[in-house]
Amino acid sequence: MRKKILVGNWKMNKTIAETKEFINQVDGELAKALENGIIVGIAPSFLSLKEAVSNAKNLIVAAQNCHFEKSGAFTGEVSIPMLEEIGVKYCIVGHSERRQYFNETNLTCNKKLHALFNANITPVYCVGETLEQYEKGETFEVVKTQVEEGLKDISKEDVAKIVIAYEPVWSIGTGKNADAAIAQNVCKLIRDVVEGLYDKETAAQVLIQYGGSVKPENIVEYLSKPDIDGALVGGASLKVDSYLKMVANLLK
Ligand code: 13P
Repeated sequence: MRKKILVGNWKMNKTIAETKEFINQVDGELAKALENGIIVGIAPSFLSLKEAVSNAKNLIVAAQNCHFEKSGAFTGEVSIPMLEEIGVKYCIVGHSERRQYFNETNLTCNKKLHALFNANITPVYCVGETLEQYEKGETFEVVKTQVEEGLKDISKEDVAKIVIAYEPVWSIGTGKNADAAIAQNVCKLIRDVVEGLYDKETAAQVLIQYGGSVKPENIVEYLSKPDIDGALVGGASLKVDSYLKMVANLLK
């Protein structure tokens, strides 16, 4: 039985003080979620990670990005050894905003996935089609390629530990969440692609999230689908109220 995983991607929101305040209000409320096999986490800004790791007892803490090189002349970047040093255990890779605004490609994502697995940090690998690709009916092809190229030469043992987030770009921050049946179809495709690359047993272990305008009112419907194991949530993860409501709804 796969665990469920809810992660709040805070993007460029919340200062260190605001992060600490959020954790103080949320962390103590999560014991029941953990008992029920639900992993609950946040991905704050790089600056807040250290404070988050030292304050969170129940929440898992994820970075939003990393560089694949260990060190060097990469102004403005953060390396995996820097994340390891402060105890970060998860890292988002290939979010559509990074693909769109910062030239992230399947190739750079693949390098990051290799480097993260080498450091025993769990990647949350994001895939998803743009509105244009969706309208042209290219969703399956785009997502399949993102999965295949992103996972290139990653071992079976490592893939079994990955989290893959399906986030249709047209549903991010727009309030236009994808129909749960559509999300399930794409998440099933992702699992089938992993099965084709590896085997059934490995594919059955991969945690797959849906992301895009997830909120307390719709999270249960997504997670009731057989291939959706969790959610990667932007806007609705920023407020303590809606965050805790999402967790509570998953426990009902
Ligand atoms: P929203 O939940 O704000 O649509 O953002 C989704 C997202 O990009 C999570 O990574």
